[in-house]
Amino acid sequence: MIFGGLFLFAGLIKAQTPKVSPSAAKPLAKPVQAARTSPTRPKLVVVIVVDQMRADYVDKFRAHWTGGFRRLLEKGAWFREAAYPYAATETCVGHATISTGSVPASHGIVANAWWDRESQKMITCTADPKAANTGYAGAKTKDGDSAWRLRVPAFADELRFQGSAGTRVVTFSLKARSAIMLGGYKADGATWTDNGGLVTSNAFGTLPFLEEFAKARPIKQDYGKTWTLSLPNSDYLYGENAAGAVAPPGWDLTFPHPLRGKAAGADPDDAFYQQWTTSPYADTYLTKLAETAIDEMSLGKGKGIDFLGVSYSSPDYIGHAFGPRSWEIQDTYIKLDKDLAELLDHLDAKVGAGNYVVALSADHGVVPVPEDMQQTGADAGILRVPDVQQKIEDTLAKFNYPSPAVARIASADIYFSSGVYDKLKNDAAAVNAVLEAIRSVPGVADVYRAEELVDRPATRSPIRSAEAASYFPGRSGDLLIVPKPYWLITQSPSGKPRENGTGHGTPYYYDQHVPILLMGWGIQPGEYFASASPADIAPTLASLCGITLSTHDGRVLTEALVKKQHSPSQPSATNLR
Ligand SMILES: [Zn+2]
Repeated sequence: MIFGGLFLFAGLIKAQTPKVSPSAAKPLAKPVQAARTSPTRPKLVVVIVVDQMRADYVDKFRAHWTGGFRRLLEKGAWFREAAYPYAATETCVGHATISTGSVPASHGIVANAWWDRESQKMITCTADPKAANTGYAGAKTKDGDSAWRLRVPAFADELRFQGSAGTRVVTFSLKARSAIMLGGYKADGATWTDNGGLVTSNAFGTLPFLEEFAKARPIKQDYGKTWTLSLPNSDYLYGENAAGAVAPPGWDLTFPHPLRGKAAGADPDDAFYQQWTTSPYADTYLTKLAETAIDEMSLGKGKGIDFLGVSYSSPDYIGHAFGPRSWEIQDTYIKLDKDLAELLDHLDAKVGAGNYVVALSADHGVVPVPEDMQQTGADAGILRVPDVQQKIEDTLAKFNYPSPAVARIASADIYFSSGVYDKLKNDAAAVNAVLEAIRSVPGVADVYRAEELVDRPATRSPIRSAEAASYFPGRSGDLLIVPKPYWLITQSPSGKPRENGTGHGTPYYYDQHVPILLMGWGIQPGEYFASASPADIAPTLASLCGITLSTHDGRVLTEALVKKQHSPSQPSATNLR
């Protein structure tokens, strides 16, 4: 049952009790009975991340949702105005924020990958020289990944450490960075996919049932399937082909999309795996993995509060390729709605409705495909990173700086070669010339110096505030580029076809604005319009679980929590004096 524990959660009872006339209701009997059997805390915390889900998808697509999304909207708390308060709207960053309740300036995850000044190379947010990855069922993998670069413990870490006993932490995603950031330092299982296999790292536990799962249901079983639309064409918004979209290899921009690789041969090739990750079949696969973990580990039935994290990555790959106005995206959410229904039904059956709490959000949104946006007449386009780099080199050559002056431009962060920025700081003429040169590149709105962002200065500029919330000394760049709204930053040089139709990673609302949906134990259903942030999820879950996070930038979403109501027969604190 869903009624709250030893306490009577008045709001929840109000929300869950079937609508009957007062005379028809059997007074008190049911709630009191339920109160004795329900847990005093949730038995299981479920965090679901949809990679690249814009908040407006809910309003645009909900008419065709009959499953999990619909249930979360109708039975849960829906925060319409949730947004990331920072600029680095990328996957690893968003997952770290959901997981810790803090922003990059605190948790230190500034991007999916950044320039490591010490080793003078690019590193990913999870790269760990001390860790070694391992594959299930003989899957080949390389390198080593862990959460060691996370500077604030994850909610899952705190839950295990502060809980009385036996918390199990299990996460799944197609992406290492998503599974790892959700599960924290020492998940019992943090599992992702690599080139068609299931993999983890020796930083985490191994789950024997995944060996069986990987053998019994390999990803290549989806080879030869075809992604077709769920509904008649007339049910889809916008046109079938967005201008500027870039289909994965072996596909074009129109349905159906066969998962048969590039050559349509007999065996899965690299193109097949790329098609698979860019299809709803991967969402269904992750759902099955999560259900198997619930069954095999009896999640929600142990001594402690268990944690299950699932990050659905395919919407991101699909959105990058086809854009937010594509039929592919709308259909992805129709199919994900069904997967979520199945997952929630499974949780009801195995853990019990009302015994678990679920939080769903996204790691970032996405900008429309620039060519598509240009049709509105808006100033939209492509900001090319190689053009920025060339402008800086040309400028500093005039001031006799050694070439190359720039070590790397990663995301919107400019990293100078060793010693160059220290010199520039004392060379006003050169630094001003560099800033002017960067601002002259098409699509650049502004550029910040690191010194303007450190320690999160008080400012009335929303952009500077967002850039500062993203800034972490030693990891962020020396200069930070701010693109103009609706301009896509790309590493592709001009004249070359770009890898993606569109992307994300800016301080604009289309990248920051994401849904937050909470449902289950302790949650007061409703539609909430107050400002919120995905950084609020971990503090809210911590409050429900009765634990304390070391630091958080988010707040407890108190308006969506069921208020404890004391029985009138109990003496109040005042009466006791
Ligand atoms: Zn992405």
